[in-house]
Amino acid sequence: MVGSWPRSPEVLRAQRRRHHGDISAEEFDHVADAAVIEALKHQESAGIDIVTDGEQRRDNFYSFVADKLDGVRLMSLAEMLDIVEDKAGFERILQTLDVPAYSIRNPTCVGIVSRREPLALNEYLFLRQHTDRPIKVPLPGPYLLTRAMWVKEATRAVYESKEALAEDVVGILRDEIRELREAGADFIQFDEPVLTELVFTQGQTRTFMCAALAARRDPAEELEFAVELINRVVAGSEGIRTGLHVCRGNWSQQEHTLLKGSYGPLVPYLARLNVTQLVLEFATPRAGELAALLDSDQIRKHKELGLGVVYPRTEGIEGVEAVVARVEEALKYLPPERIFLNPDCGFGTFSSRPMNTLEIASSKLETMTRAAVILRDRYAV
Ligand SMILES: [Zn+2]
Repeated sequence: MVGSWPRSPEVLRAQRRRHHGDISAEEFDHVADAAVIEALKHQESAGIDIVTDGEQRRDNFYSFVADKLDGVRLMSLAEMLDIVEDKAGFERILQTLDVPAYSIRNPTCVGIVSRREPLALNEYLFLRQHTDRPIKVPLPGPYLLTRAMWVKEATRAVYESKEALAEDVVGILRDEIRELREAGADFIQFDEPVLTELVFTQGQTRTFMCAALAARRDPAEELEFAVELINRVVAGSEGIRTGLHVCRGNWSQQEHTLLKGSYGPLVPYLARLNVTQLVLEFATPRAGELAALLDSDQIRKHKELGLGVVYPRTEGIEGVEAVVARVEEALKYLPPERIFLNPDCGFGTFSSRPMNTLEIASSKLETMTRAAVILRDRYAV
């Protein structure tokens, strides 16, 4: 799993009611607990080895942090349009992309940022009570969080620069890793989808989240900044598997609005990240060829690959043999023990926009596990 699983109508209703203050956090958790157990059941019955909690408690993969951090406030797009200086640019983003504007609220930094409660430790502890399988905990990466939270017009009264805000973000994520590791979590994955936006839009503001109304610096500088932040977050995290997930956006089923291009331009940066695993999409043809990534010596010698083999956004179920063939292509570059099968992205990146029905999502997971059985039989050492 990359992370999210479709939310049920009950969870969506509970999320709305909680947002409006109609139910307490405890009442929400009661609904979400049941949903997490249900998401776990789907994964276990599909035969998934490393499970997640399906992000059932989160409205999306990054803005949930506003519930956990002091100094962060969720702002609607309308509120942001009020305060940003480049209103025309901001409106253009909303129009040209199929942004789920009705559902996105940006976690904006409006005060000194600190943890009121852990971001994901409690999610992990709950899931741990219900399964013996290894658990992956997805977290927003430090670059994404810094970009999302830094809205100059609201933030600069508190932090003098994006870099100053990033210091506190790095500290928060390091605390989270330490606590998750002590609690026995197996795998922490940082989501940094916005990295592709840097290379495929050449610094033009075409971001699929209001995150970072603008990365106005040169894309290469921004990528260096991202590498530095991620490496600082994972420094000293031996004993736990760490991963980085990068995709080209998963907010829409309208393919033409999503970014396209191989991982090639990101390779020099990905190769320098001190994470155990790169969790990447490859089922979509928009992600280009495996060779663009695996021609890199650094990546081939040192990284595990979370290989995207099924595509969360399509209704057709991939063939088991096609998945096997895809993995065999990766086996030309990597030993079997460093290849992990996963979907290209989550099945419900934004809670109100599931990518598929439960039935189709489950069938896609089953396709992966059936392929894994064949592959282990052929290649397990
Ligand atoms: Zn993704």
